[in-house]
Amino acid sequence: MRYDPDNIFAKILRDELPATRVYEDDATLVFMDIMPRADGHVLVIPKTPCRNILDADQEQLSTCMATVQKLSRAVMKAFGAGGVTVQQFNETIGGQEVFHLHFHILPRHEGVSLMPPGQMADKDVLAANAEKIRAALTEG
Ligand code: 5GP
Repeated sequence: MRYDPDNIFAKILRDELPATRVYEDDATLVFMDIMPRADGHVLVIPKTPCRNILDADQEQLSTCMATVQKLSRAVMKAFGAGGVTVQQFNETIGGQEVFHLHFHILPRHEGVSLMPPGQMADKDVLAANAEKIRAALTEG
C-alpha cells in the first residue's frame, strides 16, 4: 500500500490543518487526539512519511518509541495516572483509520473505562490538557 501525502496527519505536519500540539523534536511530533478515549490522550507520529509499522524503517520506529516513553511518563505525571495504554493499529483490517504511523498514549486510572469512540473534545479542554503535559515535561 502506498503512502498518501494528503492524509490528515501529513496535513497537520505541514500546518495545513490545526492541531493542539504538545511536543516535538527533530524526528517526532505529539498532539492531542481530537476524539480522546481518555483525558490526556495523545498521538505520537514520525515527521517523515510512512503508513504504519509495516513500512516504517528502524529510525522511524526507534524515534517514535523514545517519544512514546517520554510522553507516557509525562501524561502519567500530568494526570496522576496509575498506568498508560499504548495502542497502534495497522491497515484498515487492523483498525487503522489515518494512514500515517501513529501511537496512541492513554493515561489510565483505577476503575475508569475508556470513553466511547467518536466524541469530539472541546478545544479549550484539549488546550488545557496539552498545557498540563507540557508542564510535566518541563518539570522532568
Ligand atoms: P486510528 O487510525 O489509530 O484507528 O485512529 C486515528 C485517530 O486519530 C483517532 O483516535 C482519531 O480520534 C484521531 N483523529 C482523527 N482525525 C483527527 C484530526 O483531525 N486531528 C486529531 N488531532 N486527531 C484526529
